[in-house]
Amino acid sequence: MSHEKPSKNEDEYFARRDADLIRQQRAAAQQAAAETERKKHFMKCPKCGYDLITGDWDGVQIDQCTHCHGIWFDAGEAESLMKKSVPNILARVFRAVAKGVTRK
Ligand SMILES: [Zn+2]
Repeated sequence: MSHEKPSKNEDEYFARRDADLIRQQRAAAQQAAAETERKKHFMKCPKCGYDLITGDWDGVQIDQCTHCHGIWFDAGEAESLMKKSVPNILARVFRAVAKGVTRK
């Protein structure tokens, strides 16, 4: 049967193509799920899961949890704070932050 071989190759081709499509669909679904998961955590406290709000303390943006009052610095914010020439800048900021966002 001379035409059996090409037919088998065809089957393999379609099987491989289907497997590739399934793999691509699975990867896209995983990526979408991960994106949804990230969005759910945006501006949420990494510790207790409540909302974070952004406050400005001496020009430095600090995110603070509305529930546990934990604070969060974005990349570069802690660094820019350290570069300020104000003495005890960290102590001043932390004291201000400790008074809490709920004071507003
Ligand atoms: Zn919290």
